Parts: sequence; structure tokens; C-alpha cells
Amino acid sequence: MNLIFLGPPGVGKGTHAKQLSKLLDIPQISTGDMLRASIKAGTPLGMKAKEFIDKGALVPDQVVIDMVKERIKEVDCAKGFILDGFPRTVPQAQALSEFTKIDAVVDLVARESVIMANLSGRRVCRDCAATYHIRRLNGATKCASCGGDLIHRVDDQIDTIKHRLEVYRVQTEPLITFYRDAGLLLEVVVESGIDEDFLLVRKALEL
Ligand code: ADP
Ligand code: ZN
Repeated sequence: MNLIFLGPPGVGKGTHAKQLSKLLDIPQISTGDMLRASIKAGTPLGMKAKEFIDKGALVPDQVVIDMVKERIKEVDCAKGFILDGFPRTVPQAQALSEFTKIDAVVDLVARESVIMANLSGRRVCRDCAATYHIRRLNGATKCASCGGDLIHRVDDQIDTIKHRLEVYRVQTEPLITFYRDAGLLLEVVVESGIDEDFLLVRKALEL
């Protein structure tokens, strides 16, 4: 099954995509994680992407399109994959439709206050990209799964968050209509807590 998780930054795409990835035994493909890995590795692509990411802007379409096109050719994607954070623009969605078939698009929806709280309290493991929220960390500063340092992403600071939400509205929200018109959109309201929300995601997908 080839799936897309759509929704604003901080709505929980990564969290639910990871859980679903385990359940279905297909990979979660996060373009944000891939770009951050390139930055950490100091590749030319990473250095270029960093300028955009730190500002809260989108990296150029062709960069992420090429990345995803190559990634889904890998053997672990043979049974399907979950795209998390891609596509984010109409040109990305059009390009995607030319090289693969999508079965469903899960559109996660939450109030802006919920999203702001998720983002501003988010901490990320520097080493394995696991995400946490300060309300559940109880002061811990290390990753529970690998022991890596937890960091507050530069783009999770309040001014950049506001800019990312604006970028989402202008550039990504049109994809809701794009995929609704294609008959692929499944809307899920995620405001009840991770476990209950995940059940709603499964229900929407009839899993
Ligand atoms: P979030 O879901 O919290 O916004 P991501 O990790 O998905 O975070 O993305 C972080 C940043 O990486 C984005 O703000 C953007 O700069 C870049 N990025 C990730 N995916 C894409 C994409 N599909 N197109 C353009 N830029 C992207
Ligand atoms: Zn970790």
C-alpha cells in the first residue's frame, strides 16, 4: 500500500507514520529526516537544504522529487511505503503521480493551538530522529531509544514555526483539494492523544 500523510507541521504526521510503518511493515519515508541526515553528513545537498530549512522555507521541488524518486526504488518499498512530509507542493504531487501510484492520502487535522503546542515543545534525537514532547520527558535530555542528545530544532522556535505554518497554508494546503478531487483523501481529526488518534487513522484506512 502506497500512502501519503498530509497535514501541517507538528500535527503528528511523523508519529502516526512511524506507528503505521511498524504495523504494516513498510518504510516511513520522511523527506525532513532525509534532509536533516544530509545536513549532518555535510553533503552538498545538505548544505544547500540547510539554508532553506533553518528559515522555515521549503527546499526546491526538484531536490525532494529526485530524493523520493530514488528512495522508493529501493527493495524495502516493494510492498509499499508511507510518505511523510512529501509532497508539499502541487508540482511535487504532480511529479509523484508520474512515477508512482498512490492508494490513499491521510490528511491529519488539528486546531492551530494544538499544533503550536506540539511544535514548540518538540525535542528531536540528534542521532536517530526520534521525537519527544517536553510534557512527557520529565526533564530527560537523552533519547530513550538510543541515548543520543535531544535537541530543540532551530526551525521549531516560535518565529520560524509561524513562518512554516504560513508556508503550509500557501504552498501545501492546495494539496487537500488536489487529492480530494482525485478521490484519495481521508480526513482524520487528531486531538485526542496519540493512541486514540492512531486508532482513528487505522479506522480511516480500514486497518
Ligand atoms: P515538519 O513536519 O515538522 O514541518 P519536516 O521534518 O517534515 O518537519 O520538514 C522540515 C523542513 O524540511 C521543512 O520546513 C522544509 O524546509 C524541509 N522539507 C521537508 N520536506 C520537504 C518537501 N517535501 N519539500 C520541500 N521542503 C521540504
Ligand atoms: Zn535516538
